[in-house]
Amino acid sequence: MNIKNYINGEFVNPVSKDWIDNFNPAKGEVYGQIPNSTKEDVENAYQAAADSFPKWSNTPLEDRSKILSKIANLILEKLDVLAIAESKDNGKPVNLAKTVDIPRAASNFQFFANAITQFSSEAHESVGLDAVNFTLRQPLGVVGCISPWNLPLYLFTWKIAPALAAGNCVVAKPSEVTPMTAYLLGEICNDAGLPKGVLNIVHGLGTTTGQAIVEHPNIKAISFTGGTKTGAHIARVAAPMFKKLSLELGGKNPNIIFADCDYNKMLETTVRSSFANQGQICLCGSRILVEEKIYERFKIDFIKKVKQLKVGHPSEESTDIGALVSKEHLEKIESYIEIAEDEGGKILCGGLEVTLPNYENGYYFQPTIIEVTNNQCKLNQEEIFGPVVTIMSFKTDEEALTLANDVKYGLSSTLWTNNLNRTMQFAKQLHTGIVWVNTWMLRDLRTPFGGAKESGVGREGGFEALRFFTEPKNVCIKY
Ligand code: NAD
Repeated sequence: MNIKNYINGEFVNPVSKDWIDNFNPAKGEVYGQIPNSTKEDVENAYQAAADSFPKWSNTPLEDRSKILSKIANLILEKLDVLAIAESKDNGKPVNLAKTVDIPRAASNFQFFANAITQFSSEAHESVGLDAVNFTLRQPLGVVGCISPWNLPLYLFTWKIAPALAAGNCVVAKPSEVTPMTAYLLGEICNDAGLPKGVLNIVHGLGTTTGQAIVEHPNIKAISFTGGTKTGAHIARVAAPMFKKLSLELGGKNPNIIFADCDYNKMLETTVRSSFANQGQICLCGSRILVEEKIYERFKIDFIKKVKQLKVGHPSEESTDIGALVSKEHLEKIESYIEIAEDEGGKILCGGLEVTLPNYENGYYFQPTIIEVTNNQCKLNQEEIFGPVVTIMSFKTDEEALTLANDVKYGLSSTLWTNNLNRTMQFAKQLHTGIVWVNTWMLRDLRTPFGGAKESGVGREGGFEALRFFTEPKNVCIKY
């Protein structure tokens, strides 16, 4: 099946007639093609967006909100179709797409449909100066949204929904590795009555299409989620043009486990926080740090549980671990197993590619636990972004905190303890944008979401996202 660009409400072929293959990772087969859009396509998308901006930015909030709600409802109506499409494109279990990815994409639209009706700006009375200041928060114009392959529709809509709610028009690019649900979103937007040109979706490689969006002189802001290296490149290109930038980047998140935690809840959640979506979630706790007192017990129980996870075809109900997203990614994961062997890491379980009967060319890999003793090893410092976690022990709170922070990334951390004082000390001292205590990936869409250090700049979520997609303008009136 050939995917087309969605420009000005229509599905169009790329000007360049340049196409790239789209793979089904569960089978390791090409199942369609997508445009590799060039500058011309991005320019057409930009023009459509720019032409629509005056009207969309002046559309009453209630009307904008209704359209976004309608999109949310249509996503839910098409839950099954979208979940199957997401799974086929990405390799994730259909069940996961049905219960997490697609419902969350709908929630993103519903949340910002509501949030925009509650968004307000500040007023400052300048007492004694006979003046009052109020702040307008106006949409930026045409903005660019670029998203990765791990949570395709979930992260794509997480950017688009607030941008549109705030009155911007959008040129968006999903990952070339998982373009299908973004393509299907175009049709949903038309059915929901989103005016033509308000959202435009262009497909293609990062270095071609993504680069053209970032380089476009009149695209005012870039909201990007992806790798740290790509984020740094985007910052270098966009900064001299003074574009607003929101960069949500990689992670190497610590999962810190103390002996006083609720053990069973911790164990169950740790299996999920390690291997959900084949470990391909930026928030996965890939460095498990365990208090020495319970280290051996945890090791035995964790290995036992992880060995029970079933690697299987994504469409099967019983599958826990589906396919990795691509052959390149599978090779990357395998390269870390070699690194583990070189670095003296001990593979406690997993470590091998899986060949599934009838799907021999698919990209499957065993959930893998590696025991390490040195936090400076590559396995603990580099983002693997797959079904591979490390475990190591610590003795004191100070040591745990040092290990947790001793990495260039700072996206999220998870802490397991029932000690309130420790909870507060860690919450204050962990260098991450998100700290979960006795839970993982519990999301309230009103909260600020994003990373510290090399995990990014800026925050998404709630009013933070609406602030990002608006320009504050202060008006001072003397009376
Ligand atoms: P990636 O950086 O390779 O690609 C992300 C997107 O950027 C894709 O759409 C890609 O086509 C585009 N891109 C690539 N080069 C570009 C360029 N020069 N100009 C403009 N766009 C360009 O990342 P990926 O492999 O798709 O995703 C995995 C990464 O995403 C991991 O590092 C993961 O941690 C990160 N991630 C972060 C979050 C977060 O919220 N912090 C969430 C999910 C994933």
